[in-house]
Amino acid sequence: MGFSNSIYRHLQKISGKPNVTKEKEELLCYSYDATGNSFLPDAVVFPESEEEVARILKLASKEKLVVVPRGAGSGMTGGAVPVKGGLVIVTSRMNKIFDIDENNFLVRVQPGVIVSDIHKTVEEKGLFYPPDPASSSVCTIGGNIGECAGGPRAVKYGVTRDYVLGLRAVLPSGEVIQTGVATVKGVAGYDLTRLIVGSEGTLAVVTQITLKLLPLPATIKTMAVFFDTVQKAAKTVSGIMRETVVPRCVEYMDEACLDLVKDYFSFDLPENTKALLIIELDGDVSSVEKDAQNIKTLCFSYDALDVIVAKDQTEAQKLWDARKALSPVLYKIATNKINEDIVVPIDKIPDMVQVTQKIQKTSGLKVVSFGHAGDGNIHCNIMYNKANENELKRAEKAVDELFDATLSLGGTITGEHGVGMTKMKYLPREIGATQIELMKGIKRVFDPQNILNPGKIF
Ligand SMILES: Cc1cc2nc3c(=O)[nH]c(=O)nc-3n(C[C@H](O)[C@H](O)[C@H](O)COP(=O)(O)OP(=O)(O)OC[C@H]3O[C@@H](n4cnc5c(N)ncnc54)[C@H](O)[C@@H]3O)c2cc1C
Repeated sequence: MGFSNSIYRHLQKISGKPNVTKEKEELLCYSYDATGNSFLPDAVVFPESEEEVARILKLASKEKLVVVPRGAGSGMTGGAVPVKGGLVIVTSRMNKIFDIDENNFLVRVQPGVIVSDIHKTVEEKGLFYPPDPASSSVCTIGGNIGECAGGPRAVKYGVTRDYVLGLRAVLPSGEVIQTGVATVKGVAGYDLTRLIVGSEGTLAVVTQITLKLLPLPATIKTMAVFFDTVQKAAKTVSGIMRETVVPRCVEYMDEACLDLVKDYFSFDLPENTKALLIIELDGDVSSVEKDAQNIKTLCFSYDALDVIVAKDQTEAQKLWDARKALSPVLYKIATNKINEDIVVPIDKIPDMVQVTQKIQKTSGLKVVSFGHAGDGNIHCNIMYNKANENELKRAEKAVDELFDATLSLGGTITGEHGVGMTKMKYLPREIGATQIELMKGIKRVFDPQNILNPGKIF
């Protein structure tokens, strides 16, 4: 059923007139995400509370309206794109940090809180929320739950799911559930919290999150390591990860990336640099000093051209600014990119580098790689110009080859961006028909009318 005036008025009654819109200019703003795919919704609503979300979903369930949850729309697989139209629920007004429990290392937040705001707020109290997607200054914690976001620090600290202890969420029927615990342990029944984390807004709309925190590390050391071949950089990553020291980040950039962001650095790149690793350590001062020295020695043993240790936070920040600028700056190479976030076992990173170089040769397209190499998660960007149909075809073939190679190396087609709309057709290559049927069954239990974010994952 479409959107009648009475449904629209009902939404205005729930969230207030200024917080519902069906103006085309505004609908456009909520039609796309970072993939650039765009489908117009019929209306957009900006609720402020769980109670409003529950009333909206009760209405949607009664009227069989499609509903799409949306955070900041920075997703990389079209998760928040309303492919079947309907109502987009934007969480930007649900942006409260309710409380920080310093005794139990917990923070309770609404889904629309920007992730870097969580970082800043808990750090002021000497606490630490590790997951740090490169988009943390814009993305929401609700979106991070939707995708089970990772980020550079996942090497040492894991991903979003490792910090979500409990959730409150609204089912498509409008019923509210509370999952999980506020304790370290808890095995009462199936783990619905973990099921909802990474479910891409297809099972429930998350309205409150209890996150686990850690003590803030006393010190951080950031270094830049340069190589004259990408293979040497890749082998160094595997070498570092075999050591007992676990850096909190090991990020990788290939030569094409360095060309695009070299102006960000506060130093000149050594001659012949073809790859860069950003390695970051944290912990107590004396062990970080010792570990940094060991890592430096190890990098030189793998033939690094040079190792520069950032002398202060400003210099370290410049390195991270360069890394974080990469995703958008790639459009200088071509008008479009297919950005895949494949993961391979750490000892297979050198093989993966060879695969991407081969694909670059056979496709005749630029394949640019960067990413969270320390956990085997490489962002491969296949650059093409959309206006050129032949380039698009070659790019799609390149994705096919990339995924086949990833799976044959024992990897996965997505480490942190999810399936959404863009990887739907590839999912059966990785997981069998029986598992897909199980997943579809779970979806039916949560959402028998298929009104919540349809057209995603399957
Ligand atoms: C420059 C750039 C760098 C990035 N770097 C990283 C990175 O390092 N690591 C990483 O993991 N990702 C990264 N991303 C991808 C993206 O930022 C993450 O996927 C992020 O989690 C999306 O958050 P969002 O608020 O933008 O969510 P959206 O894009 O709005 O939504 C993402 C998904 O979550 C669902 N959702 C949103 N809110 C809710 C809710 N309240 N309840 C239920 N479902 C909900 C949506 O329906 C959708 O399926 C990057 C993106 C960009 C543009």
